[in-house]
Amino acid sequence: MDVRLRPLSGAGGIGGNAYLLVADGARLLLDAGIGGEGRPTREWDLEDVDALWLSHAHLDHVGALPEVLDRRPTLDVYATSATARLSRLSLSTREDLESTRGEVAASAIQPVDLRSWVDLQTGANSSARLIAFRAGHIPGAALCVFEIELPAGETFRVAYTGDFCCHDLPATPAAQLPVPDGSFGIDALIMEGILATDRGADAVDVEESLNRLWRLASSGHRGCLIPVQTLAESVEIAVGLSRADIPFSMHRYAAPVLEAAAREIDDLSAEAINFAGTREARAVLEAGGCVVAPGDQLKADSPAGRLAPNVVARAGAMVILLNRAHGSTPGGRLLDSEVGETVELNGRRVERRCRVEHLLIPNHAPRWQLLRSAALLEPDHVALVHGRESQLWALRRALEKDGYDGDITVAENGVEVDLNGTPSR
Ligand SMILES: [Zn+2]
Ligand SMILES: [Zn+2]
Repeated sequence: MDVRLRPLSGAGGIGGNAYLLVADGARLLLDAGIGGEGRPTREWDLEDVDALWLSHAHLDHVGALPEVLDRRPTLDVYATSATARLSRLSLSTREDLESTRGEVAASAIQPVDLRSWVDLQTGANSSARLIAFRAGHIPGAALCVFEIELPAGETFRVAYTGDFCCHDLPATPAAQLPVPDGSFGIDALIMEGILATDRGADAVDVEESLNRLWRLASSGHRGCLIPVQTLAESVEIAVGLSRADIPFSMHRYAAPVLEAAAREIDDLSAEAINFAGTREARAVLEAGGCVVAPGDQLKADSPAGRLAPNVVARAGAMVILLNRAHGSTPGGRLLDSEVGETVELNGRRVERRCRVEHLLIPNHAPRWQLLRSAALLEPDHVALVHGRESQLWALRRALEKDGYDGDITVAENGVEVDLNGTPSR
């Protein structure tokens, strides 16, 4: 059997993810890419694609859904129901896309249940089906196993992780890996490696990190701002603060995401959350309260970016930065600054008087989980995608050192990977 992976976009980088799986004529597209002006979606050969699987609602995975559907309006598109709902929202934030077009595209998604086989229509002589498992990462995210069967009865199973994470987050339980048993094995694994070389994420004790966050957020201060990514962290932090009985306000910008997520999470009720516009949120902070606001890097004109100057200028107040706080962003510059230094925030020069904390709460699998996943799934071939190329090469070396003895490919866009071939090392 001939099984090939054709990375269209997103291999060896952090751009849009789209990988074509071609097996004896059956052609399955794994994620849609990012879409938008100047993106190569137009050049992809989508003619004979049989189905599209969307792993989760982040724009680097679903962004190009409208373009893909423009070219293949009747294509079968599958994802979990939460991903369908959240994709509607994330597509509405793609800057160059009218929100109605995003909504129309998202409404084409056929929801699949976890752990239940879905037969795919293929044009080829082979038959194919898929089964989805919880992937952690963000609400709705799922990893998928494709089973391709030929008339001769030969089967081949490919697992595609999408973005995944093997520890529990407040709102998003850990991935459930399809670990082989006697009747079910994985032949090839297509695995992300975003955190492949992130030492901080590899060392972090997520539970301890979360407990520290709740302690900080509830300690006495003159206002606490927690900037978050809208589609992920806002939900995790809202659920965690609610469970810990810590009063907070959530910036209204995140309301649609919380409302959509609340449908999946038993103890999250959107009505119980105190949503606030920028002016109200500012008042909450001035009164010493806690505000969670989108804009994880404090970029100008993000809700958190607009709230930051007043908080940063106030002694006794606190900003808690999460995960990515790169030096070149306002959040990163704030993190690198000392009390008394001037920081530029939202177009203003502000003297920093507040306390700044930084916590890692990764929602991708750190290196130890990537290694463990490959060891547990025991595939014959691992194809590494979605991570900087140098990081994926480092992960490849780590897999070898860890004793993984199958084939490992660091995938490159446009270069086909033979998932079922003789060793190419
Ligand atoms: Zn993601
Ligand atoms: Zn991603």
